[in-house]
Amino acid sequence: MAAHTGAGCAPSGSWDTMEDVNEPWVEPSPTATALLLLGRGGDPATERGVECPGDLPAPSDPDLVARAAAAKAALGDRVFVLGHHYQRDEVIQFADVTGDSFKLAREAAARPDAEYIVFCGVHFMAESADILTSDRQKVILPDLAAGCSMADMAVLSQVETAWELLQDLGIAGETVPVTYMNSSADIKGFVGRNGGVVCTSSNAKRALTWAYEQGQKVLFLPDQHLGRNTAVLEMGFSLDDCVLYDPHKPGGGLTPEQLRDAKMILWRGHCSVHGRFTLDSVNEVRERVPGVNVLVHPECRHEVVTAADQVGSTEYIIRAIEAAPAGSAWAVGTELNLVRRLALAHPDKQIMFLDRAVCYCSTMNRIDLPHLVWALEELVAGRVVNQITVDPVTAHQARVALDQMLALP
Ligand code: SF4
Repeated sequence: MAAHTGAGCAPSGSWDTMEDVNEPWVEPSPTATALLLLGRGGDPATERGVECPGDLPAPSDPDLVARAAAAKAALGDRVFVLGHHYQRDEVIQFADVTGDSFKLAREAAARPDAEYIVFCGVHFMAESADILTSDRQKVILPDLAAGCSMADMAVLSQVETAWELLQDLGIAGETVPVTYMNSSADIKGFVGRNGGVVCTSSNAKRALTWAYEQGQKVLFLPDQHLGRNTAVLEMGFSLDDCVLYDPHKPGGGLTPEQLRDAKMILWRGHCSVHGRFTLDSVNEVRERVPGVNVLVHPECRHEVVTAADQVGSTEYIIRAIEAAPAGSAWAVGTELNLVRRLALAHPDKQIMFLDRAVCYCSTMNRIDLPHLVWALEELVAGRVVNQITVDPVTAHQARVALDQMLALP
């Protein structure tokens, strides 16, 4: 399994400038730790942690922007570049469309004429794009080390062990598996062949409502926080209705009675970036910036979401900031690249990061301009590099769970 550390964090030397509505956003200086996390090295024993097989352009090459533009122009309509909201500016400038993981997968599916889909995001997103596009199309991830630490927290063998436990207890038949989009194709395939559904942070309530019409319990993978926040804050369950299954403990660390009594069995997974925000972060910013609106992603911890003013997906966060009145103050709890771009795009509003530590998603940041230039130039030369493919059986089963999501009322 790839070891994705997820968050690349450092104390912010520029916090004060972030909160001054009259001061421009200042890019924080990365620390040695951040540089290490963003480096080119990888674990040769894993699928995703590998070196690029070709020669990467040097990051210092002053022609990188021109080279990317030239390669993209040479490919024309044969290539479609997708950019996730958490990507670096140097990459996002070449995206034909930006969005969250689900929007991007749908955008890829809506471009049947594009021979190459270059996915500037992370591995599970490229897998979803491969599942939703035709066999003729090739999905490319510019750096194979761009994984997701949350997706890595639910491995198929672990989930199958958990399911066998539920079968032994006689409760698998009443349990519906639901997986967040941020999971591997293997997990989506498991959910598809066991009558479940995929969800996003935008439609989690609808997916869970559907699931509870099919059964009495849900096994929610892999993000405990999205599952708990949706069940408790949107569906009226209590915290006691939820139990946390730890795949590293025998029996998930739960007794048979706990599993039998639970309505929501949460997998012990989380996002390394959103999981960093704490109640202290919320209290501290409220004290420092009177009247501030706290806006967070539902991957944040329950106590953070409960203390926030608004909660929603990245698309929701973008719309909320766009609709906010001039002069209003916002502390945003999501990935820093997006928060920084929102701050720069709305200089009339006071937008700050909901933490004193600067914290990027380190695996998202692996996709940099040298990797993008390399992938595009290889395509121009007729060589397909870093193609992401999902085997047909898994793709079919995952497609069942994705189609179930698309069919949600
Ligand atoms: S920000 Fe997204 S890609 Fe990065 S670790 Fe969190 S869920 Fe995974």
